[in-house]
Amino acid sequence: MAGGKSREIGDHFKLRPSGCQVTTLKVKMKLELSTLVAVISRVGKTTAARLKKLGIETVSDLIFYYPFRWEDFSKIFDIAEIQPASIVTVKGKIQLIKNRRSPVKRKFLTEALISDKTGSVKVIWFNQPFLIEILKPGDQVYLSGKVDFDRYTLQLINPVYEKVSSGTTTHTARLVPIYSLTENLTQKQIRFLTKQAMPAVELIKDWLPAEIIKEFDLIDLNSALAQIHFPANQKILAEAIKRLKFDELFLFQLQIILSKIEIDSSSAEPIKFAEEKTKKFVEALPFKLTNDQRKAAWQIISDLQRPRPMNRLLEGEVGSGKTVVATLAIFNTALAEKQSVLMAPTEILASQHYKTISNLLAQSGFKVALLSRSQQLINNQAATKREISSYLETGEIKIIIGTHALIQEGIQFKNLALAIVDEQHRFGVEQRKLLREKSGDPKTIPHLLSMTATPIPRSLALTLYGDLDLSIIREMPKERKKIITEIVDPVKRQQTYNFIREQIASGRQIFVVCPLIDPSDRLGVKAVTEEYEKLKKEIFPEFKIAMLHGKLKPADKEKVMIDFLAKQSDILVSTSVIEVGVDVPNASVMLIEGADRFGLAQLHQFRGRVGRANHQSYCFLLTENPSQRTKIRLQALISAKDGFELAELDLQLRGPGEVYGIIQSGLPIFKIAQLSDYDLISQTKKAVEIVGPNLNEYPILKNKISQMIKEVHLE
Ligand code: ADP
Ligand code: MG
Repeated sequence: MAGGKSREIGDHFKLRPSGCQVTTLKVKMKLELSTLVAVISRVGKTTAARLKKLGIETVSDLIFYYPFRWEDFSKIFDIAEIQPASIVTVKGKIQLIKNRRSPVKRKFLTEALISDKTGSVKVIWFNQPFLIEILKPGDQVYLSGKVDFDRYTLQLINPVYEKVSSGTTTHTARLVPIYSLTENLTQKQIRFLTKQAMPAVELIKDWLPAEIIKEFDLIDLNSALAQIHFPANQKILAEAIKRLKFDELFLFQLQIILSKIEIDSSSAEPIKFAEEKTKKFVEALPFKLTNDQRKAAWQIISDLQRPRPMNRLLEGEVGSGKTVVATLAIFNTALAEKQSVLMAPTEILASQHYKTISNLLAQSGFKVALLSRSQQLINNQAATKREISSYLETGEIKIIIGTHALIQEGIQFKNLALAIVDEQHRFGVEQRKLLREKSGDPKTIPHLLSMTATPIPRSLALTLYGDLDLSIIREMPKERKKIITEIVDPVKRQQTYNFIREQIASGRQIFVVCPLIDPSDRLGVKAVTEEYEKLKKEIFPEFKIAMLHGKLKPADKEKVMIDFLAKQSDILVSTSVIEVGVDVPNASVMLIEGADRFGLAQLHQFRGRVGRANHQSYCFLLTENPSQRTKIRLQALISAKDGFELAELDLQLRGPGEVYGIIQSGLPIFKIAQLSDYDLISQTKKAVEIVGPNLNEYPILKNKISQMIKEVHLE
């Protein structure tokens, strides 16, 4: 459909004079926020599909797809003054341009000479032979890029080009936005489309109340959205970033406070503490609970006894034993003849929770069910979705575990009293309402326990989540073997590979994590494929190797993990997608390439993927970056006590305001804000306290919030 439409409008398109590889709209048409990208420009089906992968379908999506950094090409240099190794923009006339084949087979070189009144410089582009059709002798152009020194002379290598025209520039001679991309999309394409979308920014009503804008010294939303993409200068860019971070944090916290207001005015089923049975249960465990586990369990059980809904966050890094604690709450709830639900972000996590919990409750006599797209079980026996639904309605099943999405669909409980959500940072008002509707008793809402492995320092968690109740497990189970962490010198790479060989020979499995190669590889396909090929062909041809990256569909990702778990392969090469927790107890080595490209807390999460069983496990950090700062940072992984300490160190060492998006640690809760934006987070907390209780006075904001809540619901 979109294709047909664009062809129709295509008659009014013309190849852009600037030579950009996209065509532009010459007809006056009304741009709406909901206008499809395919309509503003002749975007073909494949490009549309690629954009969709980034979540971009409409003009509004483009506007809210922020760049993650900006190249400063704003200063225009005289050709005579450019220096080797610097990044410059020059403005000049093309004197000549021609293609030739490079001595290296099948490579094209396009060579040009460009001059301004101060001099001239040679330009080389690789593999873009079509350029001679776009750039002609006599054309006035801007070129932005790096200056290289080639034995005798200076030259510009692969600069970004743009013809000089009467309008403002998009790709050169300014602060140029750089976006996260997926395969086969270019910065130029997305910049061009975004520029087309810019007039629609005016259609967005500022949702922040005027007094908040004034009080917190913010710029208006329309300017912020325009400037984040095409900033006039560094100063206004900083203001735009501040405003959009503010919005993100503010809206997040506002949702939380709204949910809290609702919770505070609701009642819940009090769950009696079955003291004797709980003691027996704990004594029968194959291990001794840590003090932190005991404390957290006690806080949760105390909450459950009240007629007010629990609203507690249980934080503890991977392997700290949150599931057992949650199971104690589930156990007491079941003893009180009430039902519990546990929701996990992925099928495989749901299935692991299911295994752990049904094992722990094996002697209890309670029915535990798993409901996910690919698997339905009752007490480890295959069941149908219908059976599970009907047992939930009669109350025969006391505990159900599944993914966030599935549990929200068509099931009804007899008396749901406890909901546990794993790694869902935005579980809010709407989801709770839904649970209330399904709970079997609309007068009460279920107690809510959220669990997360993201190490958020206490003070920050309290500010961000609005004084919620918090239990933190810092202490790790004692008998676990410490993972041996080593920073591997590049010259010792072979030795590390030999070590891996021995590990595999003794039956173990290996994780290899690689960083994204460049921003255009947002989903990590390129990074992982290259590493995979290298390991398979050159290093470990004798082993079975699998790969995992962000481009795989969720079901395929799960399949790769399940196969790895079943030991179908020896090595799993992955992007950071393995960060969020699947247990592969047999894996004993975590090898991290380009370790300096990750946050410390994130590296720590990766490391947590090994050492889950009794094998001595290892984490190898490889880096080609010899800087002192890198050494200090990585050394912290060896010396720091836990993920919380690392999260704090991350903030100190990295400092707020550095590149976000690519190396952000922990779960991506935010698009532009960071957990390190301490000051802003406390400011937005104040703002939320002012606005939250009087939301009805701010219709635009209220509308925005309900729209967001709906979106979360759809996720
Ligand atoms: P988390 O959910 O916090 O990542 P889990 O609850 O899955 O951690 O626990 C990880 C593993 O540690 C499980 O195999 C669990 O049985 C075990 N475990 C939990 N608590 C203890 C403890 N106190 N001592 C020893 N092992 C424990
Ligand atoms: Mg867990």
